[in-house]
Amino acid sequence: MNDDDLKQKLTPEEFHVLRQKGTEAPFSGELYNEKRIGTYVCKVCGTELFSSDTKFDSGTGWPSFTDPTNLEHVTLAEDTSHGMVRTEVLCKQCGSHLGHVFPDGPGEKGTRYCINSVCLNFVPTSHEK
Ligand code: FE
Repeated sequence: MNDDDLKQKLTPEEFHVLRQKGTEAPFSGELYNEKRIGTYVCKVCGTELFSSDTKFDSGTGWPSFTDPTNLEHVTLAEDTSHGMVRTEVLCKQCGSHLGHVFPDGPGEKGTRYCINSVCLNFVPTSHEK
């Protein structure tokens, strides 16, 4: 799907964050406090990106995860914008911007994936038969 088509599909904020490497306001995203069991997928292409198993409360205002579901599903890239050196996280499948990964996470690997809520859809795990 090209950016002209995505402009029709996404809200202006979603388009700005996903396709123009923007950042949503902290504490604004509806998935920041999501605590149900389930999977977080790319809003553009539906690729599975993060699991509720690795979500933690970072206090930053953005959904935070210790790891992606599968490292093969994300692309990491150096980002030197805004006078900082950061590692950008993108969806490997569609190239959309997701957020950044920082080396101060609580898990074994010490990674904190700081992801914009508007880049994700949450798919709750059904407990029904
Ligand atoms: Fe994607």
